[in-house]
Amino acid sequence: MTAPTLTLRSPADGTVLGETPITSAAEVHAASRRADEVFRSRVWSGRTPRERASVLLRLAELMARDAETLARLDCEDAGKPITECRENDVPSAIESIRWFAEAVDKQYGTTTASGPDVLAFTEREPFGVVAAILPWNYPLAMAAWKVGPALAAGNSLILKPADATPRSVQHLAALAAEAGLPDGVLQVLPGDGPTTGAALAEDPLIGALSFTGSTATGRTILAAAAASNLKRVSLEMGGKSPQILMDDALSFGNELIEGMVESAFLTSGQNCTAGSRILVHRSIHDEVVTRFAAAAAALRVGHPADPATQLGPVLTAAAARRMTDAVAQADREGATIVTGGTEIDVVPGGHYVAPTVVTGVAAGSAITRQELFGPIVTVQAFDTRDEAIALANDIPYGLAASVWTARLDDALALARGVEAGLVSVGTYSEGDLAVPFGGWKQSGFGGVEKSLRAFEQWTREKSIWIRHRP
Ligand code: NAD
Repeated sequence: MTAPTLTLRSPADGTVLGETPITSAAEVHAASRRADEVFRSRVWSGRTPRERASVLLRLAELMARDAETLARLDCEDAGKPITECRENDVPSAIESIRWFAEAVDKQYGTTTASGPDVLAFTEREPFGVVAAILPWNYPLAMAAWKVGPALAAGNSLILKPADATPRSVQHLAALAAEAGLPDGVLQVLPGDGPTTGAALAEDPLIGALSFTGSTATGRTILAAAAASNLKRVSLEMGGKSPQILMDDALSFGNELIEGMVESAFLTSGQNCTAGSRILVHRSIHDEVVTRFAAAAAALRVGHPADPATQLGPVLTAAAARRMTDAVAQADREGATIVTGGTEIDVVPGGHYVAPTVVTGVAAGSAITRQELFGPIVTVQAFDTRDEAIALANDIPYGLAASVWTARLDDALALARGVEAGLVSVGTYSEGDLAVPFGGWKQSGFGGVEKSLRAFEQWTREKSIWIRHRP
């Protein structure tokens, strides 16, 4: 019997890019045993932090050498515009690896105030075998957020790329080997969720599992961890992030509309922090809608390999249908489709959804609550700051928000009032690598990416109490 495989299809035009094996449960468990042996051999975990850092810094150099290959692989597999891959995803992935390598020996444990005959201190130790399950929308960048701190801390890491996007992650692992990472410290297991992902979630040797993907899958993984070895699970999941515009927002000029467009349509809106809900003060609602819809409609929708393309395809026909159905439902409820709302013919075999702006949506309607993960944006008007906060928080998610006002009091009240793990003010941004990233509510459950806090996902604290006789 031949082993089951997944067919990789180009989201751009549906052509077959290749076949990838589905790693079976037995193979997953063999990989975790191997990772455990490698960890216990201390071939990686026993090196000094600086030695580990030097391998990771070499990896970052090799990624820079192969930047164009990495960009092309994510562009082909995920259908992401090549310009985004070149200018955003690949440089940010390289920077992540470098940042975590440089950070590894710049952290300290604690000593406690425990008395003259005791030395008590804490230190953080790697788990041993750890795993990460990745989403398809930022294949390389999400891998880098996990690889950097997990390996810098001395773990053996198993990565499961998303079903459709294994190739840049596999290339990353090949570069890690070239950089001198010992065999078995980083294993990439391609496959699907029900087979490969599920086997990781229930594997008894994996001590920590970091998941980035949808909220529905996060729930399943948490249940599997609970039913198996109670591995520590970190979840980074979906979002429905607001962009809040106070009545002075137009004072930001072109930066406002540019920031709003980037927030809403980066990676065709298939971005966890996408600002898919615009909440705007009623006094500027009409002008904002006119200008934003015009900018959205002017985006160049095209083949992702074309450097001029600003908006590429969505991943699948089913995803496109989910989006257009939601818009049609809002239409039936009396909303106004200002622009877009349908699939457009761009490249045969691909699914391209027009940048869509919907106004006049009924409060609580599905289109304002469901993560559509595409270029679909709703606009709702508010009259007061408190109303804006209430609208912003009236969703199960809490990943990110952006706030546009030049008034400090409003900026702080909104930043503090919004229930989200990340709020940017006067811009749309996830911040740099020094800034922690993690969702609230059903967008995140424990664990933080980026920043020194990311090491907490991949290490566990030990208290050591030494009695001595002075
Ligand atoms: P998904 O949940 O469908 O898949 C994510 C990963 O989980 C894939 O590798 C998949 O194979 C695996 N998986 C699926 N079922 C599984 C199971 N039963 N057990 C174990 N693993 C399983 O998500 P996706 O479509 O790849 O990614 C899009 C989602 O990811 C969106 O909701 C988006 O908001 C979210 N996302 C979040 C962040 C963040 O940092 N918060 C970043 C990127 C994407």
